[in-house]
Amino acid sequence: MLLQGKAAIVTGGTRGIGFSVVKKFLEHGAKVALLGSRQETVDKALWQIKEEDANAEVVGYWPDLMNAEEVNDVFMKVKELYGSLDILVNNAGVSARDSFYDYKPEEFKKVIDLNLNSVFLCAQTAAKIMKEQGGGVILNTSSMVSLYGQPAGVGYPASKFAVNGLTKSLARELGKDQIRVNAVAPGVTRTDMVAALPEEMVQRLTATIPLGRVGEPEDVANAFVFLASDMASYVTGEILSVDGAAMT
Ligand code: NAD
Repeated sequence: MLLQGKAAIVTGGTRGIGFSVVKKFLEHGAKVALLGSRQETVDKALWQIKEEDANAEVVGYWPDLMNAEEVNDVFMKVKELYGSLDILVNNAGVSARDSFYDYKPEEFKKVIDLNLNSVFLCAQTAAKIMKEQGGGVILNTSSMVSLYGQPAGVGYPASKFAVNGLTKSLARELGKDQIRVNAVAPGVTRTDMVAALPEEMVQRLTATIPLGRVGEPEDVANAFVFLASDMASYVTGEILSVDGAAMT
């Protein structure tokens, strides 16, 4: 019960890594608002959780993460409902793997909008609430490609390099307000994002992982639990790799 009584918002909480983070946070005693892009997927995620535990303290919303007013409305609702906002997990993300020669500026903008600009906006909205209440934790989902880059789909690694920069800089700026800011950098993790890759590519990627397997969403979620908890009370500005020591 590492997060007993804490209130958390998890963006991209309807499936994959985010859904696993939501479930782990609930297991550890947190109250959670999961965010998704559509009401149907949010309802489905809530239903799945409630089916396992009807008493789980979880709600769901689907704000446009690039819209300051919608984000603020939802964050204030969560604070009013749970009495505080202690943890924000900026997890929603998209990737595109086009070659640079074909990469459309609209695609680049779409990736940067969700993977970086929404992180800025959500972090800023949460930080204002956290400063007022005397502290909090902001966690971002980065990626192993934020360390190495990747050979196609340049918008995605570019966005994740920027997420690391945002994480380290916000840790320095917000420390005085007792707000810790860290990121988790997953390696290849078994989610829809990876299911969309050709099997041959997954095998090629697995061959580069010393632990000999792709990560499970729970492997990544456990790192989020640690960083969100008071066990990590003196950890800030870190990019924690959860990638089986993958080398790409
Ligand atoms: P996923 O595709 O399974 O889930 C993505 C989540 O983001 C969903 O909950 C979806 O609702 C949300 N989302 C997508 N577009 C959105 C939008 N426009 N507005 C609001 N929410 C939106 O992805 P995943 O694999 O679980 O990835 C989660 C995070 O982990 C992402 O930031 C991703 O970059 C990162 N990541 C994943 C892997 C991997 O191998 N799966 C590796 C490294 C990093």
